Amino acid sequence: MNASVVVIGAGPAGLAVGACLRRAGLDFVILEKAHEIAPAWRHHYRRLHLHTVKSLSSLPYMPFPEDYPRYVPREKVVAYLDAYAERFELRPCFGETVKDIRRVDDGYLVETGRDTISAHQVVIATGSNAEPVVPNLPEIEDFKGRRLHSADYTDAASFAGQSVLVVGMGNTGAEIALDLAECGAPPTLSVRKGIHIVPRQLLGVPIQMIAIASRPIPQAMNDRLFPIILDLALGNLEKYGIVRPNQGILEQVDAGRIPVIDVGTVAAIKSGDIKVVPDIMRFTERGAIFVSGSSVEFDTVILATGYRPDFKKFLPAALRPDKSGVSSRASELGLYLVGFHNPVTGLLREISREAVAVTADIVRRRSTSAG
Ligand SMILES: Cc1cc2nc3c(=O)[nH]c(=O)nc-3n(C[C@H](O)[C@H](O)[C@H](O)COP(=O)(O)OP(=O)(O)OC[C@H]3O[C@@H](n4cnc5c(N)ncnc54)[C@H](O)[C@@H]3O)c2cc1C
Repeated sequence: MNASVVVIGAGPAGLAVGACLRRAGLDFVILEKAHEIAPAWRHHYRRLHLHTVKSLSSLPYMPFPEDYPRYVPREKVVAYLDAYAERFELRPCFGETVKDIRRVDDGYLVETGRDTISAHQVVIATGSNAEPVVPNLPEIEDFKGRRLHSADYTDAASFAGQSVLVVGMGNTGAEIALDLAECGAPPTLSVRKGIHIVPRQLLGVPIQMIAIASRPIPQAMNDRLFPIILDLALGNLEKYGIVRPNQGILEQVDAGRIPVIDVGTVAAIKSGDIKVVPDIMRFTERGAIFVSGSSVEFDTVILATGYRPDFKKFLPAALRPDKSGVSSRASELGLYLVGFHNPVTGLLREISREAVAVTADIVRRRSTSAG
């Protein structure tokens, strides 16, 4: 098969790139390993709503419907993505897992195991959350209860009445702990190190908009000011076992760690519905012992320990772009990443910007080489 542009992945990033390429009149194919578009959003836990506002989370050229709430629930995100694919006539080739990309002459050969596609440009949109991270926790094999990664958590129904340990307080761990607390399975949350927590809104203004508005302020000043404001909004959480890291919020974002956007977890911690414990020293047959010396018994352990991208599996190191979006060295050779830079202002917003910029770069380079 031949295509001008191969887009790998049919999540929000691949769809956004597809829509931009369609509008630019370019010939392209989208390869998706699953058998549906946006599989991640179809399978995320049920309680999930976007943490970012809908006006700053839509994909290029199609806002979320007006009657959607400010923080769009998961199933409406899925409906939006389905409508988006329909509107821009995006028909991915499903069941195609890219296994290898090779540079040939002035383009690429993309290998899926079933097919080899030759293309002038390749856009990798396989997601920063492609693979669940399962850390090597001390003596976890001793634990005889149920163990699952947050990627396999759907809702709290099957945990009612149980004692559950949630490991990790990123956005997912914080929200799953809240889900459990609200559904009769008051959890224990193991928080290994310092974290920044921000409310979803400050005085009615979405935190994402505040982050965008405060960007002209020097980072060091932002990082000094925010903790003061956040203490006023959420209270000092040290007595509940949650401390801030030494790095400021923006410094951490630069290092790839976004803050936890609170959707009610802090209140549940304060009310005692969620108990916070420190890092795990080791697991036992029925529970765990923490570095504080305390021990607790559990029925289930949920590992909310994050995800990582997996494009290294099929993209040789020599071809890898040095950044997401338009990166001078790789773009020159027609290879792009979209969706791998997660700024404090939201990944979906960044995906939109990158999709538009990458398409413009492809169009510009083609017209230059044609002229
Ligand atoms: C729980 C959760 C909540 C989030 N909430 C927000 C939010 O509120 N606001 C926000 O801005 N961002 C949010 N994000 C971050 C981000 O917007 C989402 O992860 C989004 O789905 C990223 O889109 P993507 O297309 O880059 O990746 P994905 O949605 O992961 O899509 C990647 C696609 O590539 C396919 N694929 C992977 N490898 C291959 C291969 N080798 N060959 C072919 N296909 C392949 C996958 O099957 C998948 O369909 C959230 C993320 C998570 C996990």
